[in-house]
Amino acid sequence: MHFESHVGHLGGNLSALDILLCLHHDVLGPSDAFVLSKGHSVGALYVALWSVGRLSDEDLRTFHRDGTRLAGHPPPEGIPDIPFATGSLGHGPALAAGLALARKLRGQEGRAYCLTSDGEWDEGSCWETVIFARQRQLANLTLIVDLNGLQGFGTTKEVADLDPLASRFATFGWSVREVSGHSPEELAMALKAPCDQPLVVLARTVKGRGVSFMENRMEWHYLPMSEAQYRQALAEVERS
Ligand SMILES: [Mg+2]
Repeated sequence: MHFESHVGHLGGNLSALDILLCLHHDVLGPSDAFVLSKGHSVGALYVALWSVGRLSDEDLRTFHRDGTRLAGHPPPEGIPDIPFATGSLGHGPALAAGLALARKLRGQEGRAYCLTSDGEWDEGSCWETVIFARQRQLANLTLIVDLNGLQGFGTTKEVADLDPLASRFATFGWSVREVSGHSPEELAMALKAPCDQPLVVLARTVKGRGVSFMENRMEWHYLPMSEAQYRQALAEVERS
């Protein structure tokens, strides 16, 4: 999809893909909602939705094309599984908290889930949501952090070091679970275990996961692939 459309953002899509597949195959139910805060990884979300029959082969072929429903960031309408337009980083957690609060006030079943990048925790709006969710006791809210250690301008340590992130969330009264973001078993266990507080799952991932020349390389936050790179990437993914 990305090669045919000549677009980048492959690194963050590949770090998020296992998380999105786990959510859609094993976690999300009909009463739940999901917000993709790191909207630049929407390609991986479309693939996850396709894999559970919510999008078609034909839909995927329109990715990033003029007039498509499958825009390069989550669109504001046209796909029932996508509740909000996102991609301006730092806003997904607050949107998910609103969905969780609405369910709580109405006495409805279901949880709100949100996948963020690690870089977007530089944004103050994310931490406002952490405070708000604790204050409102949103035990039906789960945030997942795609902890790949890289963001658009360098490593997260170089740009704004928030290590250890787990203790920062714990200080605000959140439940914290740390897992491999590439282990479906660990992810499912962390995401499905009951919780009586707002929950954050810190998912350790590899940016560009599965493609040797992309793994842990910041430039693959942005770059589109050449044809030769595409052939190599495809061969590596098919071998694994
Ligand atoms: Mg990152």
